[in-house]
Amino acid sequence: MYDGREFDVTGVRIVPGADETERNVAGDADYDFRALFVTHPTPMWVYDPETLRFLTVNDAAVRLYGYPAEAYAHMTVLDIRPKWERERMLVAVQARSDIERAERWQHLKADGEIMDVLTYGRAVRFDGVDAILAIVTDRTEVNRAYRQASDTRSLLDSIVTNLPIGVFVKDMADDGRYILYNASCGEIVGYDPDYIVGKTDFTIFTPEQAAQFRRQDGEALGGSGLLAVEEDVVRSDGAIRTIRTVKRAIPTADGSPQRYLVGISEDVTERRSYEARISHLAMHDARTGLPNRAFFADHMGALLTLGERCDPFALLYIDVDHFKHINDSMGHPAGDALLCEVAERLKGLVGAADMVARLGGDEFALIVMLKGADARAEAAVIADRVMLAFSEPFQLEGVTEHVDCSVGVALAPWNGDDVNLLLRNADLALYAAKGDGRSTFRFYERSMRLNAEKRHALTVELRRALVENEFELHYQPIISLSDDSISGFEALVRWNHPERGQLAPSEFIPVAEETGLIMALGDWVIREACRTAATWPASIKVAVNLSPCQFRQVGLLATVVAALDEAKLSPSRLELEITESVLLSESGQNLQLLHALRALGVRIAMDDFGTGYSSLSYLRSFPFDKIKMDRSFVSGIDTDPGSLAIVRAVTGLGSGFNLTTTAEGVETPEQLLRLRREGFGEIQGFLVARPMPAGDVPGFIARHHGINLDDLGWRRKAC
Ligand code: C2E
Ligand code: MG
Ligand code: MG
Repeated sequence: MYDGREFDVTGVRIVPGADETERNVAGDADYDFRALFVTHPTPMWVYDPETLRFLTVNDAAVRLYGYPAEAYAHMTVLDIRPKWERERMLVAVQARSDIERAERWQHLKADGEIMDVLTYGRAVRFDGVDAILAIVTDRTEVNRAYRQASDTRSLLDSIVTNLPIGVFVKDMADDGRYILYNASCGEIVGYDPDYIVGKTDFTIFTPEQAAQFRRQDGEALGGSGLLAVEEDVVRSDGAIRTIRTVKRAIPTADGSPQRYLVGISEDVTERRSYEARISHLAMHDARTGLPNRAFFADHMGALLTLGERCDPFALLYIDVDHFKHINDSMGHPAGDALLCEVAERLKGLVGAADMVARLGGDEFALIVMLKGADARAEAAVIADRVMLAFSEPFQLEGVTEHVDCSVGVALAPWNGDDVNLLLRNADLALYAAKGDGRSTFRFYERSMRLNAEKRHALTVELRRALVENEFELHYQPIISLSDDSISGFEALVRWNHPERGQLAPSEFIPVAEETGLIMALGDWVIREACRTAATWPASIKVAVNLSPCQFRQVGLLATVVAALDEAKLSPSRLELEITESVLLSESGQNLQLLHALRALGVRIAMDDFGTGYSSLSYLRSFPFDKIKMDRSFVSGIDTDPGSLAIVRAVTGLGSGFNLTTTAEGVETPEQLLRLRREGFGEIQGFLVARPMPAGDVPGFIARHHGINLDDLGWRRKAC
């Protein structure tokens, strides 16, 4: 821009200020600005305001406008203007209004292009004429940029208005009046943005809501970052929506107080309810609606992290006894109904600070906060209440069922300060409760952990023993009382442990059953027993015990067939002893398998009769060949009238169902006499012989021949 200094044009000194006429001295060569004028990069010319003719034009102007330099001699300043600007130019020249000030014009270039310019006029003397120096700045680019900027502004306006997210701006210097409120914002709150703009929150929303917004605005203005809030807002139609808003004061460049507050709002109602549903689904059991294991563990974890600030609590691990039986025998809808009813009953036992969860299957758990001085006594009362909740029969699909439960209790913080440890310990206590015959509760004790560790060690050893062939079968004779002959031998497994000596089945069968190793062990027993029995006289049978777990094995039938084949043993010489539990669980499938085994010609005996459910319906559901009365009844035969009654009942069942009856655990001649009198079919027990190694069996058979059983017993007693 021209800075007002004097300069000379074409050898004539030009000085600003027409009113200071003749102050300049033409020809004074102090300053020769001619060359400067001509070569100056700013387009300039001098014209006569009377004739409007150009008096001189510099090179930059010639270049910019494109007219030949010599053409200017015949041109007026109107010639470089489009028609629509000429009138204004005439007025401006007459009024001298373009002097000493910048003026916007549109000029016409030689090639017809219209150019935006800014001219600055100064009155000068030129060749003795009162002339005007015009200094020109090409504004085309600048104006284009401005135009673009204004296009961009309106584009931005349109984007902001139509953004799918709510945007608003408040003028905090004007009582927080809205100066911008886009369409989405309007939709969120149910108001027309035109209604909102110009108003404050107090005109639009309830006083409480407006006051809350005002507080947030104050916070956003005071702080430097973003303020994010999520709150329920009442829409114009009364609906309550969850709105998430992020507010921020627009920073000022010069550090002056912030004035504008911009906010972005989003209606998150659906998203939040969806998230809530998802997290509910993820944290709850679909069947009962109770918290699931993950939720339960989280909750317990949160309690435990409180450390000393947390009240002690009891963790009760609850297992519905024989749930599988109900599920299998009555169908899944009945099983589901039972689970839901259990959930309801358990919920009724706890307070607001406690929790009931379904951990999976038929396992439930409670967390009960303990307030009293004696945590153990308090927990025992709760466990009792749980047992009591089960005492009322359950109505399942119109059928009344009695269902019990077993409960393991761990106390926090004493029995563990981390979730997994507590759950494991409560589980160990539950395991012990089940081992105690179910329908009871047990507190966790350290010995349970030691036992669990022992069980684990035993599992490892059992695996090894199977590979190393450390098992052996002993055989105990079974005597037929009709002629005192040997009817058969029962195969009883022993483990010749390298360090602990010979172990009885009670020490390892339960672990083998738990770990599934019973499958491999059971297979071996069947094959080994058949192989050994094949060496005995054909009249002597072999009895093999089957674990209920073996019925879960698909190959049991094939194993039996293969064992008989390999040993070339007649199926009629093999007797399989099962317990009632085989019929208790998955009875349909197991019955099928039993029938298939019996169809081979193998005999099936019910072992330990009288100790389990002893449901007579089992005898009807399957044609057993034999029942073996548990030895507990034999031992009480002389002293306990109940035992004698059972002995008689078993004899009656034997003749009624045409079954062989065998009495186990006969130890004394008196017991033998009694059983003979009661008409029992067979006896087995220490009175005759203890289980013996396979190698002793042939000798026993040979010795037994011709021996009077009764004599044997009395003789032994005399010794
Ligand atoms: P069980 O089938 O009832 O076997 C009879 C058990 O009573 C045997 O104990 C036997 O030694 C014992 N016994 C026999 N006569 C008398 C007696 O007069 N007095 C006393 N007090 N006991 C007597 P054992 O060998 O310790 O076996 C215990 C249980 O282990 C068996 O009971 C059976 O259920 C199971 N078992 C044994 N071998 C096997 C096997 O190979 N597979 C499976 N699954 N279980 C087996
Ligand atoms: Mg047996
Ligand atoms: Mg038995």
